[in-house]
Formats: sequence, C-alpha cells, structure tokens
Amino acid sequence: MSAIRRRGRGWVLLAIFALACSTAPLTIEEERQLGAEVEKQARQKFQFLRDEAVVGYVSGLGSALLRVMGPQPLEYDFYVIEDDELNAFAVPGGTVYIHTGLILKARNVSELIGVMGHEVGHVYHRHVAENYRRQRNTALAQQLGVLGVGVLAGGAAAQAANLLTGLGAMAYINQFGREAEREADGFAVQTLPKAGYDPSGLVSFFGTLIKEYGDRGSSFLSSHPATQERIANTQAMIRAQQLPSNLRQDDDGKLEIIQHRIRLLTGKAPTSR
Ligand SMILES: [Zn+2]
Repeated sequence: MSAIRRRGRGWVLLAIFALACSTAPLTIEEERQLGAEVEKQARQKFQFLRDEAVVGYVSGLGSALLRVMGPQPLEYDFYVIEDDELNAFAVPGGTVYIHTGLILKARNVSELIGVMGHEVGHVYHRHVAENYRRQRNTALAQQLGVLGVGVLAGGAAAQAANLLTGLGAMAYINQFGREAEREADGFAVQTLPKAGYDPSGLVSFFGTLIKEYGDRGSSFLSSHPATQERIANTQAMIRAQQLPSNLRQDDDGKLEIIQHRIRLLTGKAPTSR
C-alpha cells in the first residue's frame, strides 16, 4: 500500500473524528433520521400493545399536548409497550414509549399526561438529541482508539453508528441532568394547563413512584430522579402560574376503562370464581 493512500486514509479518519466530535447540536434532520433508525430497532425489540382503544387513548392525550404546542419541527408519536415496569421514555425524533405498568399505576389522567408531558419536554428541549450527540462522541472516540487508524474509515464510522443506534444506548440517552429534569418538568407544568389538564398530576405521580419504589428501583426513577428538591421546584412552578380551578384531573372514568382493558389484554385482570 502506498504512503499516499495511507496518509489519505488518516485524513479521512481525522475528518470524521472532527465532525463527530463537534460540539454542534444534532440538526433536526439528523435527529429525524436517527429517530427512524431507532424506531426500526424498537419494533423488533419491544413487545407493543397494539390494541386500538388503548393506543388511541394514549395518542389522544399526546395529541392534546401537541395541539397547544403549535407547529413543531419533529413529529411526535406515542406507543404503548407491554411491560409491567413503571416506565416511560423518549427517543430521538420525538417518539415517546409508555409502559403498560405506568398506565396501570396512574391514579388519574393528569398523572399520566403529566409524565407524557415531561417526556415530550425532553424532546422539545433537545435533551435527547444532546445526550445522543455526547454519546456519539464518546463511542466514536472509543472505536477509533480500539481499532486504530489502520481500519477503513467507512468501517469504523458504520460500526460506531450501529453501536449508537442500538437500544442499549437508550439507557444512556435517557440519563438527564438536574437542569434538564427541571426544564422537562417546567415544560409539562406549562403545557398541561393549556391543554386543560391539572399539572399537579406530575407531582402526585412522583409521590406514587416514591411510595411504590422508594428512592430507587424503577428505570423511570433512575433516569428521572424524583428528589424532594425536584418535587418542591415543580410545586413552586405550578403555584407561580395561578391556574384556574377547572383544570381536569380525571376524564370521567375513561382512564379506568383503559386500565381495565389493559388488565384483560395482558392477563392481569383478577379472575372471578
Ligand atoms: Zn426526565
């Protein structure tokens, strides 16, 4: 192999490394493409509850939030994952996944839509995209370190891309700092009332989480810690808004019907003797 070709390869690698390690945020288009890739993998990895009534109900709550958010560059989607764990998470591109375990534990609709608003807030504020960008830099740096410069640039980049779109990276992408949590809570607290829902559901759901799991134990808590400080901050943000008293906490039994339906569909309904 000629020295010129070798040198050329090194430059390509350096250029890729510089590009990937740039501190520039992910563009909306990049996030959209990445989101499509992640969704493809999610379809294989997760067990979705595909019941029209349940998914329609959850999507309807999502739409209620989107309607008051105005035009958005990303298209948000809401899916229900059949899983007992009390969890919800967002991926790049705007898709929000909600576990059946979380829907079953919500005491009223304002708790459920409160958590959904929080997750949408992480996408809206580009927290998910920023975590991905940081992860991409680290993983690509590791790849280059491990593989050395003798590897074809295309191969290393492809492997790094593959590593990052893997769902294993989702756990990292959903680790948010205190400031990001506050922003996502703030987003939920601002957006819920515009959609007619009481934002205090978000706070009462923190209470449910702590009661059910203590300080640890659920994925949702480990990625979105419900500290006393966070609860107090969220309460203060709600009080500062001076909200009308007619915001809804429940939806005339609709959530309860959906919960019952989930129990029947997932074999969790109590059997009658
Ligand atoms: Zn969060």
